[in-house]
Amino acid sequence: MRRHGFGRWGGPWLAVAVVLPIGMPAVSAEPSRDHFDSVVIDAGHGGEDHGARGPRGLVEKDLVLDVCNRLAERLDAAGLRVTLTRGSDEFVPLEVRTSVANDARADLFVSIHANSAATDKPRGIETYFVSLESSDDMARQVAARENQALTRDSAATTRNDPLMALLGDMIATEHVIESSEFAKLVQGELADLGTGSTRGVKQAPFVVLMGVQMPASLIEIGFLSNPNEEKALRRGRYRDAIVEAVARAILAFGKRYDARRGVRADLSALADEP
Ligand SMILES: [Zn+2]
Repeated sequence: MRRHGFGRWGGPWLAVAVVLPIGMPAVSAEPSRDHFDSVVIDAGHGGEDHGARGPRGLVEKDLVLDVCNRLAERLDAAGLRVTLTRGSDEFVPLEVRTSVANDARADLFVSIHANSAATDKPRGIETYFVSLESSDDMARQVAARENQALTRDSAATTRNDPLMALLGDMIATEHVIESSEFAKLVQGELADLGTGSTRGVKQAPFVVLMGVQMPASLIEIGFLSNPNEEKALRRGRYRDAIVEAVARAILAFGKRYDARRGVRADLSALADEP
């Protein structure tokens, strides 16, 4: 598993990735284009960018870092090569997250976030894949909020903004079908979790997904603005249940990915899946 740290960076395009070893056996598999063996896990926010905050004080950046670390361990144990865009509480610009993913030449990019709404009613898990057009108003608001980490200027996230149009050109259209397929797998696995409402697969212009040259999706694992969901998300067992569901979806996606490319599913993790 690789963790990237950015203790010092001289602006968004000058960032240098530092690979920090952790106490886990290295996986020696080389990056591969045609065999599913590599995943990038992206914990939203970090450092000065706190993300959403629940009424009882649970902060999105801390929650998603813990969930991503649990997910990385689960996938590492399953034999996949895992790259984390951040392994600690640090600010990592969205475009650096994209670069880390592309440098890793991974087969899948999964970004984990937690939702927030203006009232305490909205609840449930939703999974996104990238599109310039949002599937509904709430999806548009979610993308606008998550994109603020790019420039600290939410005005830069509207459909008609020149920056947005430029970024839109970067959407890897060849990966959109696989991204939507993965989003459906995730949402299917997560359907039994949450506080009873599945919000489905949605589309929105998430900057962090736009320049990624691989299938990619962003999961909002629940509403911190909903007191019941904040309470659930505090529990380690609930976080593990989310991790297990996402891991199942990733391994199922891997099987399909290899089958589509005519690769025999000989990865032990995939063969061992029930
Ligand atoms: Zn977020």
